[in-house]
Amino acid sequence: MRSIHRELEDFQLQKGWEISQADADKSTESLLLNHMLLTTEIAEIAEELRRMLNRAYEMKEKGIEREKAFQLAKEEVAEDIGKEIADSIAYLCKFATFFQRDIEQDIKNKMNEIHTRSKPNLQERMKEEVK
Ligand SMILES: [Mg+2]
Repeated sequence: MRSIHRELEDFQLQKGWEISQADADKSTESLLLNHMLLTTEIAEIAEELRRMLNRAYEMKEKGIEREKAFQLAKEEVAEDIGKEIADSIAYLCKFATFFQRDIEQDIKNKMNEIHTRSKPNLQERMKEEVK
């Protein structure tokens, strides 16, 4: 993760796509713009998921067995959803660069925090409530 973050950082600097650090006003504008672009990329992941589920439904309606239709639809969107995931990660890396974060360390710290958390998380609480 560290090396891809550095690669993205260099690429974004070459293109002039980094989040501005010029002054507070420019940084504010740049942060908001990049957040808007990040959420657009996240929405594009949702669009690919919707395309996949619609394709799976169509195939099932045409008589293809449910599991097979799901797998075929998954294969159909895999390359495109990969592009949207990559776009999203590129924007997340911009934020990490701006805040001088080591993403790899932050991910490890977060996993450790979750692992050592004493309270059950939301997903676990919801499972308990459904029972
Ligand atoms: Mg995109």
